Amino acid sequence: MIYEIRKHGDPVLRKKSEPVTEINEEIRTLLDDMAETMYASSGVGLAANQIGIAKRLITVDAGIDGESKIHKLVNPRITQKSKEKKDFEEGCLSFPGIIEKIERPAQITVQAKNEFSEDVEIHAQGLLAVALQHEIDHIDGVTFVQRMTPVKRLLHKKELKELKNRAVPK
Ligand code: ZN
Repeated sequence: MIYEIRKHGDPVLRKKSEPVTEINEEIRTLLDDMAETMYASSGVGLAANQIGIAKRLITVDAGIDGESKIHKLVNPRITQKSKEKKDFEEGCLSFPGIIEKIERPAQITVQAKNEFSEDVEIHAQGLLAVALQHEIDHIDGVTFVQRMTPVKRLLHKKELKELKNRAVPK
């Protein structure tokens, strides 16, 4: 099932999501629906609160080397970050039309459970590292706009205001 994506201005995007305590059929269905919604929107990642569900669930497919690989992660957390940082152009399905360079650690390690309750550890760099950090921010109620420098945020002030005016809180 494809969900509607919540946009800037919807309070669920600023909410810290709750950990998932039991990975059951309901969670697996939700992760499948998130992946379907993400692909339907041509996104590389999606967090559950972007479809209005404040649970710590993300899906990411950074399509590395042209190969699609879906990560369905439950309660993901970043356990290591490199000192080296990199600028990457980011967009967000909740902020249509806005693209901006964001600086983040270049390499990270993420630990999580997968949809079968197995422990997974991902060593990521490049787009995968960016997408994982962007989505884990989402479940903490942090959007990429908050990661922009004040000058860059100011550059998008008008677009942000327009998006917010259009948002219909659920
Ligand atoms: Zn996003």
